[in-house]
Amino acid sequence: MTLIDGKLVSSVIKDRVQAEVAVLKDKTGKVPGLAVVLVGEDPASAVYVKNKNKTCEKVGFQSLSHNLPADTDEATLLKLVGDLNSDDSVHGILVQLPLPKQIDSQRVLEAIDPRKDVDGFHPVNVGHLASGVKTLAPCTPAGIIEMLDHYKIDIEGKRAVIIGRSNIVGKPMAMLLLQRNATITICHSRTKDLPAVAREADIVVGAIGKPRFVTADFVKDGAVVIDVGINRVDGKLVGDVDFDNVAEKCSFITPVPGGVGPMTIAMLMQNTLTAFKSIHNL
Ligand code: NDP
Repeated sequence: MTLIDGKLVSSVIKDRVQAEVAVLKDKTGKVPGLAVVLVGEDPASAVYVKNKNKTCEKVGFQSLSHNLPADTDEATLLKLVGDLNSDDSVHGILVQLPLPKQIDSQRVLEAIDPRKDVDGFHPVNVGHLASGVKTLAPCTPAGIIEMLDHYKIDIEGKRAVIIGRSNIVGKPMAMLLLQRNATITICHSRTKDLPAVAREADIVVGAIGKPRFVTADFVKDGAVVIDVGINRVDGKLVGDVDFDNVAEKCSFITPVPGGVGPMTIAMLMQNTLTAFKSIHNL
Protein backbone atom coordinates (compact mmCIF):
# COMPACT_ATOMS: atom_id res chain seq x y z
CA MET A 1 0.00 0.00 0.00
CA THR A 2 1.28 3.45 -0.88
CA LEU A 3 0.22 6.47 1.12
CA ILE A 4 -0.56 9.43 -1.15
CA ASP A 5 1.24 12.43 0.31
CA GLY A 6 -0.90 15.50 -0.34
CA LYS A 7 1.57 17.79 1.38
CA LEU A 8 4.30 16.69 -0.99
CA VAL A 9 2.18 17.01 -4.15
CA SER A 10 0.79 20.37 -3.03
CA SER A 11 4.28 21.75 -2.47
CA VAL A 12 5.31 20.59 -5.96
CA ILE A 13 2.35 22.54 -7.38
CA LYS A 14 3.01 25.64 -5.25
CA ASP A 15 6.70 25.62 -6.28
CA ARG A 16 5.66 25.33 -9.93
CA VAL A 17 3.23 28.27 -9.55
CA GLN A 18 5.83 30.36 -7.71
CA ALA A 19 8.43 29.78 -10.45
CA GLU A 20 5.97 30.73 -13.20
CA VAL A 21 4.84 33.86 -11.32
CA ALA A 22 8.47 35.01 -11.07
CA VAL A 23 8.96 34.60 -14.83
CA LEU A 24 5.68 36.38 -15.66
CA LYS A 25 6.49 39.21 -13.27
CA ASP A 26 9.80 39.81 -15.05
CA LYS A 27 8.04 39.75 -18.40
CA THR A 28 4.96 41.88 -17.60
CA GLY A 29 5.65 43.70 -14.34
CA LYS A 30 2.38 42.25 -13.04
CA VAL A 31 1.51 39.51 -10.54
CA PRO A 32 -1.72 37.57 -10.03
CA GLY A 33 -4.09 39.04 -7.45
CA LEU A 34 -6.50 36.95 -5.39
CA ALA A 35 -9.34 38.59 -3.47
CA VAL A 36 -10.82 36.52 -0.66
CA VAL A 37 -14.13 37.65 0.77
CA LEU A 38 -15.20 36.44 4.20
CA VAL A 39 -18.59 37.35 5.63
CA GLY A 40 -18.98 36.78 9.35
CA GLU A 41 -16.75 35.02 11.82
CA ASP A 42 -17.11 31.30 11.23
CA PRO A 43 -13.89 30.05 12.90
CA ALA A 44 -13.20 27.27 10.34
CA SER A 45 -13.65 29.75 7.47
CA ALA A 46 -11.33 32.25 9.19
CA VAL A 47 -8.60 29.59 9.37
CA TYR A 48 -9.04 28.73 5.66
CA VAL A 49 -8.84 32.41 4.72
CA LYS A 50 -5.69 32.93 6.78
CA ASN A 51 -4.03 29.93 5.09
CA LYS A 52 -5.05 31.19 1.69
CA ASN A 53 -3.47 34.60 2.35
CA LYS A 54 -0.28 32.98 3.62
CA THR A 55 0.00 30.74 0.56
CA CYS A 56 -0.65 33.70 -1.77
CA GLU A 57 2.32 35.51 -0.27
CA LYS A 58 4.50 32.42 -0.56
CA VAL A 59 3.88 32.02 -4.30
CA GLY A 60 4.23 35.75 -5.02
CA PHE A 61 0.59 36.73 -5.52
CA GLN A 62 -1.00 39.90 -4.31
CA SER A 63 -3.54 38.87 -1.70
CA LEU A 64 -6.51 41.03 -0.80
CA SER A 65 -8.79 40.16 2.10
CA HIS A 66 -12.25 41.60 2.57
CA ASN A 67 -13.76 40.77 5.95
CA LEU A 68 -17.37 41.83 6.21
CA PRO A 69 -19.57 41.65 9.32
CA ALA A 70 -22.01 38.75 9.75
CA ASP A 71 -25.03 41.05 9.21
CA THR A 72 -23.87 42.23 5.76
CA ASP A 73 -26.77 42.34 3.32
CA GLU A 74 -26.78 40.79 -0.14
CA ALA A 75 -26.69 44.13 -1.98
CA THR A 76 -23.49 45.17 -0.18
CA LEU A 77 -21.80 41.88 -1.01
CA LEU A 78 -22.94 42.06 -4.65
CA LYS A 79 -21.55 45.60 -4.89
CA LEU A 80 -18.17 44.39 -3.56
CA VAL A 81 -18.14 41.51 -6.07
CA GLY A 82 -18.93 44.01 -8.84
CA ASP A 83 -16.03 46.23 -7.74
CA LEU A 84 -13.66 43.24 -7.68
CA ASN A 85 -14.88 42.18 -11.14
CA SER A 86 -13.79 45.54 -12.55
CA ASP A 87 -10.53 45.81 -10.55
CA ASP A 88 -7.64 45.10 -12.95
CA SER A 89 -5.32 44.01 -10.16
CA VAL A 90 -7.72 41.21 -9.16
CA HIS A 91 -7.62 37.99 -11.22
CA GLY A 92 -9.28 35.61 -8.80
CA ILE A 93 -12.31 36.18 -6.57
CA LEU A 94 -13.20 33.73 -3.85
CA VAL A 95 -16.25 34.22 -1.68
CA GLN A 96 -15.82 31.93 1.30
CA LEU A 97 -18.80 29.61 1.86
CA PRO A 98 -21.01 29.15 3.80
CA LEU A 99 -22.55 32.64 3.65
CA PRO A 100 -24.96 33.90 6.34
CA LYS A 101 -28.64 33.02 5.86
CA GLN A 102 -29.75 36.45 4.63
CA ILE A 103 -27.57 36.08 1.52
CA ASP A 104 -28.43 33.93 -1.49
CA SER A 105 -25.10 32.14 -2.16
CA GLN A 106 -26.03 31.14 -5.69
CA ARG A 107 -26.81 34.75 -6.64
CA VAL A 108 -23.43 35.85 -5.30
CA LEU A 109 -21.52 33.05 -7.06
CA GLU A 110 -23.28 33.93 -10.33
CA ALA A 111 -22.27 37.59 -9.94
CA ILE A 112 -18.56 36.74 -10.10
CA ASP A 113 -16.94 37.29 -13.49
CA PRO A 114 -16.50 33.69 -14.77
CA ARG A 115 -12.94 34.53 -15.84
CA LYS A 116 -12.13 35.34 -12.19
CA ASP A 117 -14.13 32.45 -10.72
CA VAL A 118 -11.17 30.54 -9.25
CA ASP A 119 -13.49 28.24 -7.27
CA GLY A 120 -15.04 27.05 -10.54
CA PHE A 121 -18.60 27.34 -9.19
CA HIS A 122 -20.04 29.80 -11.74
CA PRO A 123 -22.57 28.13 -14.09
CA VAL A 124 -20.44 29.13 -17.11
CA ASN A 125 -17.47 27.22 -15.73
CA VAL A 126 -19.67 24.33 -14.55
CA GLY A 127 -21.06 24.18 -18.10
CA HIS A 128 -17.59 24.25 -19.63
CA LEU A 129 -16.52 21.42 -17.35
CA ALA A 130 -19.57 19.34 -18.28
CA SER A 131 -18.92 20.03 -21.99
CA GLY A 132 -15.28 18.97 -21.71
CA VAL A 133 -14.02 22.50 -22.48
CA LYS A 134 -10.82 23.59 -20.69
CA THR A 135 -11.94 25.78 -17.78
CA LEU A 136 -11.42 26.78 -14.14
CA ALA A 137 -12.40 23.56 -12.36
CA PRO A 138 -13.27 23.32 -8.65
CA CYS A 139 -10.08 23.08 -6.60
CA THR A 140 -10.68 19.95 -4.52
CA PRO A 141 -11.49 17.54 -7.36
CA ALA A 142 -8.86 19.17 -9.61
CA GLY A 143 -6.34 18.54 -6.82
CA ILE A 144 -7.34 14.88 -6.68
CA ILE A 145 -6.59 14.49 -10.39
CA GLU A 146 -3.15 16.10 -9.78
CA MET A 147 -2.49 13.60 -6.99
CA LEU A 148 -3.45 10.63 -9.17
CA ASP A 149 -1.18 11.94 -11.93
CA HIS A 150 1.71 12.56 -9.54
CA TYR A 151 1.57 8.92 -8.43
CA LYS A 152 1.12 7.77 -12.06
CA ILE A 153 -2.19 6.11 -11.21
CA ASP A 154 -3.97 5.15 -14.43
CA ILE A 155 -7.41 6.68 -14.82
CA GLU A 156 -8.30 5.76 -18.39
CA GLY A 157 -10.69 2.83 -18.62
CA LYS A 158 -10.89 2.44 -14.84
CA ARG A 159 -14.14 2.10 -12.89
CA ALA A 160 -14.48 5.08 -10.55
CA VAL A 161 -17.16 5.29 -7.86
CA ILE A 162 -17.71 8.70 -6.31
CA ILE A 163 -19.69 8.74 -3.08
CA GLY A 164 -21.30 12.18 -2.71
CA ARG A 165 -22.92 14.38 -5.35
CA SER A 166 -22.25 17.91 -4.12
CA ASN A 167 -21.58 20.72 -6.59
CA ILE A 168 -18.28 21.38 -4.84
CA VAL A 169 -16.78 17.90 -4.85
CA GLY A 170 -18.82 14.92 -6.11
CA LYS A 171 -20.22 16.22 -9.39
CA PRO A 172 -17.10 18.03 -10.64
CA MET A 173 -15.01 15.01 -9.57
CA ALA A 174 -17.18 12.85 -11.79
CA MET A 175 -16.76 15.26 -14.73
CA LEU A 176 -12.97 15.40 -14.36
CA LEU A 177 -12.65 11.62 -14.13
CA LEU A 178 -14.96 11.25 -17.13
CA GLN A 179 -12.78 13.69 -19.09
CA ARG A 180 -9.89 11.35 -18.31
CA ASN A 181 -11.84 8.40 -19.69
CA ALA A 182 -12.81 6.66 -16.47
CA THR A 183 -16.17 4.91 -16.28
CA ILE A 184 -17.96 6.74 -13.51
CA THR A 185 -20.72 6.01 -11.03
CA ILE A 186 -21.99 8.72 -8.69
CA CYS A 187 -23.53 7.52 -5.42
CA HIS A 188 -25.56 9.40 -2.80
CA SER A 189 -27.86 8.89 0.15
CA ARG A 190 -30.51 7.08 -1.93
CA THR A 191 -28.10 4.65 -3.61
CA LYS A 192 -29.13 1.04 -2.99
CA ASP A 193 -26.50 -1.38 -1.69
CA LEU A 194 -23.75 1.19 -1.73
CA PRO A 195 -20.97 -1.16 -0.51
CA ALA A 196 -21.62 -3.52 -3.46
CA VAL A 197 -21.49 -0.61 -5.93
CA ALA A 198 -18.29 0.75 -4.38
CA ARG A 199 -16.66 -2.70 -4.44
CA GLU A 200 -16.73 -2.60 -8.24
CA ALA A 201 -14.46 0.42 -8.27
CA ASP A 202 -10.79 0.65 -9.14
CA ILE A 203 -10.92 4.20 -7.75
CA VAL A 204 -13.20 5.12 -4.83
CA VAL A 205 -13.68 8.78 -3.88
CA GLY A 206 -15.39 9.37 -0.53
CA ALA A 207 -16.96 12.85 -0.22
CA ILE A 208 -19.81 12.31 2.19
CA GLY A 209 -19.06 14.27 5.35
CA LYS A 210 -19.57 11.28 7.70
CA PRO A 211 -16.63 10.07 9.75
CA ARG A 212 -15.22 6.64 8.74
CA PHE A 213 -18.28 5.94 6.56
CA VAL A 214 -16.34 4.01 3.91
CA THR A 215 -15.43 0.73 5.58
CA ALA A 216 -13.37 -2.23 4.33
CA ASP A 217 -16.60 -3.73 3.00
CA PHE A 218 -16.77 -0.93 0.38
CA VAL A 219 -13.34 -1.59 -1.10
CA LYS A 220 -12.05 -4.31 -3.39
CA ASP A 221 -8.47 -5.52 -3.02
CA GLY A 222 -6.02 -3.25 -4.79
CA ALA A 223 -8.37 -0.27 -5.16
CA VAL A 224 -7.24 3.34 -4.97
CA VAL A 225 -9.08 5.17 -2.18
CA ILE A 226 -9.34 8.96 -2.02
CA ASP A 227 -10.74 10.44 1.18
CA VAL A 228 -12.14 13.97 0.82
CA GLY A 229 -13.88 14.09 4.19
CA ILE A 230 -12.88 16.46 6.95
CA ASN A 231 -14.71 15.62 10.16
CA ARG A 232 -13.84 16.60 13.68
CA VAL A 233 -14.32 13.76 16.16
CA ASP A 234 -13.26 14.29 19.78
CA GLY A 235 -11.08 17.19 18.68
CA LYS A 236 -9.30 15.04 16.08
CA LEU A 237 -9.58 15.31 12.28
CA VAL A 238 -10.87 12.15 10.64
CA GLY A 239 -11.87 11.43 7.08
CA ASP A 240 -14.88 9.75 5.51
CA VAL A 241 -12.84 6.55 5.18
CA ASP A 242 -12.22 4.07 7.98
CA PHE A 243 -8.50 4.38 7.29
CA ASP A 244 -7.16 1.73 9.71
CA ASN A 245 -9.28 -1.05 8.23
CA VAL A 246 -9.37 0.10 4.60
CA ALA A 247 -5.66 0.89 4.11
CA GLU A 248 -4.52 -2.73 4.12
CA LYS A 249 -6.78 -3.55 1.14
CA CYS A 250 -5.69 -0.61 -1.03
CA SER A 251 -2.96 -0.06 -3.56
CA PHE A 252 -3.04 3.68 -2.79
CA ILE A 253 -4.87 5.70 -0.13
CA THR A 254 -4.94 9.33 1.02
CA PRO A 255 -4.62 10.06 4.75
CA VAL A 256 -6.63 12.67 6.69
CA PRO A 257 -5.08 15.07 7.46
CA GLY A 258 -2.30 15.43 4.88
CA GLY A 259 -4.11 14.02 1.85
CA VAL A 260 -6.69 15.90 -0.21
CA GLY A 261 -6.82 18.90 2.19
CA PRO A 262 -3.51 20.56 1.24
CA MET A 263 -4.28 20.10 -2.47
CA THR A 264 -7.29 22.42 -2.37
CA ILE A 265 -5.25 25.54 -1.57
CA ALA A 266 -2.52 24.57 -4.03
CA MET A 267 -5.12 24.30 -6.80
CA LEU A 268 -6.58 27.65 -5.81
CA MET A 269 -3.14 29.13 -6.52
CA GLN A 270 -2.97 27.22 -9.81
CA ASN A 271 -6.45 28.47 -10.83
CA THR A 272 -5.55 32.08 -9.95
CA LEU A 273 -2.43 31.84 -12.11
CA THR A 274 -4.50 30.33 -14.94
CA ALA A 275 -7.04 33.17 -14.63
CA PHE A 276 -4.23 35.77 -14.65
CA LYS A 277 -2.73 34.28 -17.81
CA SER A 278 -6.05 34.07 -19.57
CA ILE A 279 -7.10 37.64 -18.63
CA HIS A 280 -3.75 39.02 -19.85
CA ASN A 281 -3.51 36.68 -22.86
CA LEU A 282 -0.19 35.23 -21.63
P1 NDP B 1 -22.22 17.77 1.11
O1 NDP B 1 -22.83 17.66 2.45
O2 NDP B 1 -22.54 18.91 0.22
O3 NDP B 1 -22.53 16.43 0.29
C1 NDP B 1 -22.45 15.18 0.89
C2 NDP B 1 -22.88 14.11 -0.09
O4 NDP B 1 -22.80 12.86 0.58
C3 NDP B 1 -24.32 14.29 -0.58
O5 NDP B 1 -24.38 14.08 -1.96
C4 NDP B 1 -25.09 13.20 0.18
O6 NDP B 1 -26.13 12.59 -0.56
C5 NDP B 1 -23.99 12.15 0.38
N1 NDP B 1 -24.33 11.36 1.54
C6 NDP B 1 -24.64 11.76 2.79
N2 NDP B 1 -24.95 10.72 3.57
C7 NDP B 1 -24.87 9.62 2.78
C8 NDP B 1 -25.09 8.25 3.01
N3 NDP B 1 -25.49 7.79 4.20
N4 NDP B 1 -24.90 7.39 1.98
C9 NDP B 1 -24.51 7.85 0.79
N5 NDP B 1 -24.27 9.15 0.51
C10 NDP B 1 -24.46 10.02 1.50
O7 NDP B 1 -20.66 17.68 1.36
P2 NDP B 1 -19.39 18.18 0.49
O8 NDP B 1 -19.33 17.47 -0.81
O9 NDP B 1 -19.30 19.65 0.51
O10 NDP B 1 -18.21 17.63 1.43
C11 NDP B 1 -18.02 16.26 1.69
C12 NDP B 1 -16.89 16.11 2.70
O11 NDP B 1 -15.70 16.61 2.14
C13 NDP B 1 -17.07 16.91 4.00
O12 NDP B 1 -16.50 16.16 5.06
C14 NDP B 1 -16.29 18.16 3.78
O13 NDP B 1 -15.82 18.73 5.00
C15 NDP B 1 -15.14 17.64 2.95
N6 NDP B 1 -14.53 18.63 2.09
C16 NDP B 1 -13.16 18.66 2.05
C17 NDP B 1 -12.49 19.52 1.24
C18 NDP B 1 -11.00 19.47 1.22
O14 NDP B 1 -10.38 20.45 0.88
N7 NDP B 1 -10.39 18.33 1.55
C19 NDP B 1 -13.20 20.48 0.39
C20 NDP B 1 -14.64 20.32 0.40
C21 NDP B 1 -15.26 19.44 1.24
P3 NDP B 1 -27.50 13.39 -0.94
O15 NDP B 1 -27.11 14.31 -2.07
O16 NDP B 1 -28.41 12.30 -1.37
O17 NDP B 1 -27.94 14.11 0.29
